[in-house]
Amino acid sequence: MTQTLLQADPDIHALIQEEHARQNNSLGLIASENHVSPAVLEALGSCLTDKYAEGYPGRRWYFGCEQVDQVEQIAIDRAKQIFGVAHANVQPHSGANANTAVFLACLKPGDKIMGMDLAHGGHLSHGMRINFSGKYFEVASYGVEEGSEVLDMDKIREQVLAERPKLLIAGASAYPRTIDFEAFGAIAKEAGCLLMADIAHIAGLVAAGLAPSPVGHADFITTTIHKTLRGPRGGMIMCTEEWAKKIDVAVFPGLQGGPLEHAIAAKAVCFKEALSGDFKTYQQQVIDNANTLASELTSRGWRLTSGGTDNHLMLLDLRSRMPETTGDTAANWLRDAEIVCNKNSIPFDPRPPMQTSGLRLGTPAITSRGMGTEEVKLIAESIDSILTSEGNESVIATAKGAIGALCAQFPIPTKQ
Ligand code: PLP
Repeated sequence: MTQTLLQADPDIHALIQEEHARQNNSLGLIASENHVSPAVLEALGSCLTDKYAEGYPGRRWYFGCEQVDQVEQIAIDRAKQIFGVAHANVQPHSGANANTAVFLACLKPGDKIMGMDLAHGGHLSHGMRINFSGKYFEVASYGVEEGSEVLDMDKIREQVLAERPKLLIAGASAYPRTIDFEAFGAIAKEAGCLLMADIAHIAGLVAAGLAPSPVGHADFITTTIHKTLRGPRGGMIMCTEEWAKKIDVAVFPGLQGGPLEHAIAAKAVCFKEALSGDFKTYQQQVIDNANTLASELTSRGWRLTSGGTDNHLMLLDLRSRMPETTGDTAANWLRDAEIVCNKNSIPFDPRPPMQTSGLRLGTPAITSRGMGTEEVKLIAESIDSILTSEGNESVIATAKGAIGALCAQFPIPTKQ
């Protein structure tokens, strides 16, 4: 029981070391990923993982919860302070769980939900056919406009009024533009439906006041903690006082058993970081880096969907320069040069989701390593040269050298 990980399980120890090296020696451009601080990781790896605490602070089924009660209350209070909400539930194990708990709180099986089309950048928990959300609820969807590739709020209003969903969902996994939560709120009000804003991707930008907040417009706000917010893997639900009780009951005992108090402690640490002055500077740099990457790629002739980005991510349309190259092939070439991103469908993509015509690129993780404008210019140059050479081996080798030097100069913040 007292052995180190190395002694107890050399195989897993070695794989964790390998993963640390992989992260440290490659560039993470996956828009939904980030690097946590050593303090967040310390809380995550603490003895709090041993504690059962079904219930909520001050109302637990188990005894010995004096410390975790305080931990969870601190996490709740900080979340309320950051986002300016009446109620926060920090127990959801993930973003998808947070969304499911909202459905459980306010819908009955067969009710209609309406979210952004998965193929246009929505998330699978917003009504994908084989997801829980698509199986238990009737699903309608809205999408971006062909041509502009942005959400047209007048058109969405008409669609929502025609569909009359019980729950309207605003939020996306691959939408590079600002989401107008105020307009969504007005539409929901007019249509007499509830509004859930899923800010999983942009939570850090919202927390820093650099993207519009859905507070005051949405009945429910769900998020992950591990994307731009730069915390541990997990979810959270925020809501008006009116829904507080129903949301808490939906999370526990409705959907989950014991909360992950070690993860909740790490969420609390992340929230403290988000309340610090540095956090806004970091989020502004995320946006600046995304803008630099977008303009560097555009100036080399690459088309980005909607023409650019307002946030931390962009979708590159490979057809603009390499019509024969799929997102899958392109992401593999970049991977060979230690640039890690994901293939992504672009709106109205003629290719199937396993191939795609696009790449999704995001800047939260490289910004957490301290990279700025000059580094992003070099990254854009490497991406461009690899793609236009069609994955030429010597071009990849040159880019890999440059990326390796960059990674060595900007190590990831955690030691293991
Ligand atoms: N909602 C949105 C908009 C997302 O992008 C994601 C994840 O990518 C989720 C929910 C789900 O989060 P998780 O993977 O933690 O379940």
